[in-house]
Amino acid sequence: MRSSALGSRESELSRRSFLALSAAVVSLPCLDRMASMHPILLGLAGDNPFTLGVASGDPTPTGVVLWTRLALKPLEVDGGMPAESIELEWVVAHDEALINVARKGKILAGADMGHAVHVEVEGLEPDRWYFYGFRTRSSQSPTGRTRTMPRVDASPERLKFAFASCHHFEQGFYSAYEQMAADSPDMVFFLGDYIYEYAEKPKTDEKDARVRFHVGPKLQQIGDYRRRHAQYRSDPLLQRAHATCPWWVTWDDHEVENNYANLVSSLKDVDPIAFAQQRANAYRAYYENMPLRPSAMPKGPDMTLYRRGQFGKLLDFTVLDTRQYRTDQPNGDGHRQLNDAALSPLNTILGARQRNWLESSLVDSKATWNLLAQQVMMGLVAFRTKTEGERTYSMDQWPGYTDERIKLMRFMADRKINNPIVITGDIHSNWVNDLRVDDRDSRSPVVGVEFVGTSISSGGAGTAVPKTLSNLMADNAGLRWHNAERGYVRCTVTPKTWKSDYIVVDSVLKPNGSTLVRKSFVVEAGRPGVQVS
Ligand code: FE
Ligand code: CA
Repeated sequence: MRSSALGSRESELSRRSFLALSAAVVSLPCLDRMASMHPILLGLAGDNPFTLGVASGDPTPTGVVLWTRLALKPLEVDGGMPAESIELEWVVAHDEALINVARKGKILAGADMGHAVHVEVEGLEPDRWYFYGFRTRSSQSPTGRTRTMPRVDASPERLKFAFASCHHFEQGFYSAYEQMAADSPDMVFFLGDYIYEYAEKPKTDEKDARVRFHVGPKLQQIGDYRRRHAQYRSDPLLQRAHATCPWWVTWDDHEVENNYANLVSSLKDVDPIAFAQQRANAYRAYYENMPLRPSAMPKGPDMTLYRRGQFGKLLDFTVLDTRQYRTDQPNGDGHRQLNDAALSPLNTILGARQRNWLESSLVDSKATWNLLAQQVMMGLVAFRTKTEGERTYSMDQWPGYTDERIKLMRFMADRKINNPIVITGDIHSNWVNDLRVDDRDSRSPVVGVEFVGTSISSGGAGTAVPKTLSNLMADNAGLRWHNAERGYVRCTVTPKTWKSDYIVVDSVLKPNGSTLVRKSFVVEAGRPGVQVS
């Protein structure tokens, strides 16, 4: 629907299409009621601006954020949308037919926000499921399902959530999301690499295993970032997973560019001003495309994404941002020994402000479990080089910031933070790590557990038993399991136990991949360290 043409199109509409559209609207009773209160200006039949689905996020006990973004043509830089704003009606209801309305309102979707809207709904009941939807004057969105968190003083018996990361569009199908939606989790954490920034590249040879193709140049401009988000969001299984429950999202590097650190590009000879502009474009498009609170709206190249939430007295969690404030990776971005550069106390992956906020959040917490939802592996996992005896660590992950990593673990041990659990994405493989103050000292006590989840699709075909597995297990006392299949992790949390099920997909190179639970791990409250079940 192009609002600029509304007036003329209205008069052009035949009586027949008017009746057809009216019938479609009537089939959604509550929206019909809303419509009867406001005169309907009809767009053209067949114009569907809800091609990117709906989403919700950042729930509290009384509210949640609802999201949608209008795009008539998702693969066009402007989404095929007019420059004018479009009025949307939104509704939150107790039933899937959206009849029994809990809250409703109107909001404008403007071109300045890529025609995305972020509705902060308040006044809902704690610990309840709701349905929601949007409509323009001529179209309905798909209906989403969302929920509020329990009251902060409630004692929930169970929380079921999923976490995922890295869904490279070209490298595989999103079958994992079909299973995730079927699990019907209470919420989802997405831990980064929601899009990848690479340019479209034609298929050149038979070895190219890509299952579908990016559109557009390497991302730098706002329109290209918006279009890439739209391309990813047009996937029906990703839409289904978003519509299933509220998501808590954070980014890693590829939402801007591979392995960037703060305002430093990992590419050679990049003008810092140009990179700041690129980061501003990327952050803006990220905000627009995620179910985030308007308080997260970026200011130029800065956007506050770290935040906290809670699920009654069962779980407190922080969602971290280890990209925006970090110092540049020491020794380059690859695997290096833990030399003076890697161990320097000047290196930070959180930045002072976020670290102080994290520590006070942890000290404030009275919950049974404390979850840190973040991007890059916190375990100090040693890799073997070909030179015998040498151990290297990933400089793009927490080992590049070992001093800060050790101080954070020591803080959690000294302050006796309740049952710390870390969830992580980024490396397209599954890892389960017992975390010590310094993982290199296998005699020191375990403080917490890290569950690293593999990619949804990035990396393409996976491996159940990586070749390096036996060396890794021999060299790392904290490493309990490792695997490189595709999938996600499903967690069931009760006052007594934490269970993580590693769900894997048989193949992401074909649609409709099937899933199974490859392995499950349990942590008992009050007893740090993982048990294999
Ligand atoms: Fe990734
Ligand atoms: Ca990454």
